[in-house]
Amino acid sequence: MPTAPTAVHEALDQASFHLLFLAEGFRAADKKEFTTFCTKVSRALFRIAPFSLAERRISISSLFSPSTQQGVAAAAGNTSFKFTLSAANELRTREPARIITLVKDITPVPVGGKSEMNPPLGGADVWLDPGRMGTRAVCVVVHEAKRAVTTTRRYAAAEIDDPADDDDDLNVMLPFIAMSTWPTLAASQPQYVNPFEAAAAVLAQELGVICGLEYESELKDAAHEIFDPLLPDPQVPNLITDAAIRVAGAVDVKKVPWVDMMAATRTARPVTEMDQPAVTVAGETPEQEFDRFAPVREAMSTNVVLLRHPKNAANPNDTSTLTEVRYQTLGKVQLINDDPHLIEGGGGYRRSVYRPAVECTMRFDGSDTPSGNKQKRVVVPFCAVCTRHLQKELSGPPSFKLQGLRVIRGPATCAGRASPSALADRIVADIQSRDVPGVGSMACVEATMYRYEHFFREILDWTTVGQVPFVTADPWYSNDIPFPYVRGRLAMWNIWMNAMVPLKANKWLWRYAALGAAGAIQFARLGCIANRYRPLTENDPAGNPVKFNAVRNLTLDEVAALTPGSVLQLWTDETLYLNVLRYIVGVLPAPPLLDDDHAGHSLFFMGPDAQGRPTVADQEGTGVLLNASYRAPLKFRIAAQWFDAVNVPPVPEPAGP
Ligand SMILES: [Zn+2]
Repeated sequence: MPTAPTAVHEALDQASFHLLFLAEGFRAADKKEFTTFCTKVSRALFRIAPFSLAERRISISSLFSPSTQQGVAAAAGNTSFKFTLSAANELRTREPARIITLVKDITPVPVGGKSEMNPPLGGADVWLDPGRMGTRAVCVVVHEAKRAVTTTRRYAAAEIDDPADDDDDLNVMLPFIAMSTWPTLAASQPQYVNPFEAAAAVLAQELGVICGLEYESELKDAAHEIFDPLLPDPQVPNLITDAAIRVAGAVDVKKVPWVDMMAATRTARPVTEMDQPAVTVAGETPEQEFDRFAPVREAMSTNVVLLRHPKNAANPNDTSTLTEVRYQTLGKVQLINDDPHLIEGGGGYRRSVYRPAVECTMRFDGSDTPSGNKQKRVVVPFCAVCTRHLQKELSGPPSFKLQGLRVIRGPATCAGRASPSALADRIVADIQSRDVPGVGSMACVEATMYRYEHFFREILDWTTVGQVPFVTADPWYSNDIPFPYVRGRLAMWNIWMNAMVPLKANKWLWRYAALGAAGAIQFARLGCIANRYRPLTENDPAGNPVKFNAVRNLTLDEVAALTPGSVLQLWTDETLYLNVLRYIVGVLPAPPLLDDDHAGHSLFFMGPDAQGRPTVADQEGTGVLLNASYRAPLKFRIAAQWFDAVNVPPVPEPAGP
């Protein structure tokens, strides 16, 4: 039976992030307590930057389901989702299907702003849709006085009773958050004058993980002493490994992901590598401590500093006792700096991996100071790098602002829905009026790319272009093009071109693999994929199972129902699409054969004709039937629809007679 969620916080603009609170271990009589927790934590979250800046675009809903028993324990009891609290303070459930069942019942999900969704979004469209990963979170609020928070990222087969660990819905819902109501209960320790701020900071850190950041904290076990160079790079915006930035022994600052946020005067000079001064010196005065850390501060004011993890001189190869250095003393506070550096320790590892700043919400969410007979929780701010990442994630592409144009970031998928887009309308007008020189002799991707490039450069005045290093003996595309990219240097181009070698080498791009032009639009956050997804598990050549998501085909009728201006990627058939995908994700050892009978193409959808048949723009025209000519044998269709935008330049009036 459909259940309408309670709106905890309504987004004034179309929501770019959806948070759902669920109740665990709250009895029917505790409903008010749950409601109060959700409301007050949400308000406190919006006092933490950059969530404060995205308040208009974050939608928070809650759904109450009563438990027979209050709270959770080491063994599952009679609660809604059967969570347990382990001795290691982990909140886990062996029955996540209970969450999935409830989420599937939710409708309608508030989308924010003035936009209406028809049909309305259901819980599964938002919280069980792989295309929306990173833009939504399920947070199970557990009635428990102890501080406990667990973001479950994966399940092993032994950790689950129902459903199986390879269940489609479960893997799409992961990661999900479970957090206790610490420190808001009378039994919580310590007692705070601002308990909801403390809880909100815990939530903020976990939302950071959901949005693609990694913890900057360190674990104490031997396996986390040094980052294993054989492991893949963390591929997160707030960590970098030593191996990734070192060239012939020296740090190449250009390889640091946050180099563009470091002052140019510092990056122009060599990176200064320093040891963190010993953590405590017995009998030291505050002034002596200040003097001990001053050289680090001074180096940071002129150079980028690589600050090695503090070590205990008596046991330099085991730093496990020194993982929780806080930067609050007179001396250490000097190292807090808006300009990011390279601080050793993060992602659980103590050495050979660097974070941008000494302190950040992603490392410690807060610290306490006495306030009367209670404590006051001081929330540690996000570092500059994490702040920028979250701003991007929560507000859409901030650089996508040209002459006032702003893209309104929509859903990550728009399967089954055509949303109006001023950007799409302007593209259609441009295609219809633009003369493409020599279009008849172009390949179709060439014509599509020409229209994209020139629209972005000439209509949107887009200046962020990259020269495509295109080298081939038989160029089917000019090898020196100023390609307007929005994200990731030329990753967008590689996705558009289905360039299998770079895509295979960059795991973080696999979710865009074989989506071609449509995937590039989604990667750039300019639009959403119109196809539905399905999760697949297949064995690699060594027999290891590989999980990946594939899109389902669009019918001709489904293409005809899209917003005109949508970008299409065509493949000869589903097998070819899947084999490109399988090669990139490692299921197939060799790439599939591409020839005249096994090909991919890209086009613009231009709207249905009078009989409802989809028409397209390519080298043959700007209103030709999709299911005709060389296009007819291309039976597998992928589409991306543009997000809406405001302040799109108007179509010029036609010149008078
Ligand atoms: Zn950070």
